[in-house]
Amino acid sequence: MNLARFPRIRLAHLPTPLEPLERLSRHLAGPDGKGPRLWIKRDDCTGLSTGGNKTRKLEFLMADALAKGADTVITQGATQSNHARQTAAAAAKLGLACHLLLEDRTGRRDEAYTQSANVLLDRLHGAEIGHRPAGADMQAEMEALAERLRAEGKRPYVIPGGGSNPVGSLGYVYAAQELLGQAMELGLRIDHVIHATGSAGTQAGLVVGMVGLNSGVAVLGIGVSAPRAPQEAKVLALAQETARHLGLPGIIRTEHVAANCDYVGQGYGIATQGMVEAVRLMAELEGILLDPVYSGKAMAGLIDLIRKGHFAPDSNIVFMHTGGSVGLFGYPEAMA
Ligand SMILES: *Cc1c(COP(=O)(O)O)cnc(C)c1O
Repeated sequence: MNLARFPRIRLAHLPTPLEPLERLSRHLAGPDGKGPRLWIKRDDCTGLSTGGNKTRKLEFLMADALAKGADTVITQGATQSNHARQTAAAAAKLGLACHLLLEDRTGRRDEAYTQSANVLLDRLHGAEIGHRPAGADMQAEMEALAERLRAEGKRPYVIPGGGSNPVGSLGYVYAAQELLGQAMELGLRIDHVIHATGSAGTQAGLVVGMVGLNSGVAVLGIGVSAPRAPQEAKVLALAQETARHLGLPGIIRTEHVAANCDYVGQGYGIATQGMVEAVRLMAELEGILLDPVYSGKAMAGLIDLIRKGHFAPDSNIVFMHTGGSVGLFGYPEAMA
């Protein structure tokens, strides 16, 4: 596996730290003190405009955009998209124009959600923002915008939602390599990696990396929007495409892909009690901020699965913190 063959520009502070979650592990252990040991991979600390998982993908996507002579990037996401914010920051750093199409997926109209947090940062980075109603065909909307910009003489590059395609997913193939290298240094046998899964690029990349390196590490995505069957199908398809892109066709099979979508609640971006509890626990026990849409729900899932005895007591679990804590400012009522 030779990722250096692919164009990449440095945007992230790497490697991100791998740290033990000592107080949370103890809090979740049984009365006998036994329980899985929890670790956290700090991809919330990638450094670009408050960080997050999209920065690793953008290292490959932006390099591809520049190689293709783009002067403008277009992407899409929900109103409080962390991907949109990181794309706007990367474009600013590289001197590219940035157009964001934001889909009104939650129907919220309050000031905090529509103007603060990620939206405030999108504007600070100088992005042009367009709004679309829930359920719009966002890929088609981006293509239509690209067509208009081309007619004006611009050279737009369209990045899919979440940066999730075989180019962006390379960022998480690399993250798997990085994590295994850190585990080796620490003498740590990782059994599970757990993280929030949405547009699927993070999980697809991690799975390709972990399988391609024959690591024996199981990857579990905790869903934040779709039910399990379509989520797993999306991850599987993208993982297989990413493996092909890497020159490793055929290595990814159905059994490599697992998603648990029991912690979505009423829908994407809608707060759940488990999410609020998880955000509070991490803040109070570890001094770490999760986010209300992704990592909070993923941690809610991890906590519940540990309480149900899903993991062997001597297992080592790495929680991949995918970032997004700036989104907390878009959820003042839920967090109060
Ligand atoms: C986008 C995002 C995810 C999900 O990653 P995908 O690659 O889209 O599945 C998880 N956490 C945060 C904070 C995100 O912004």
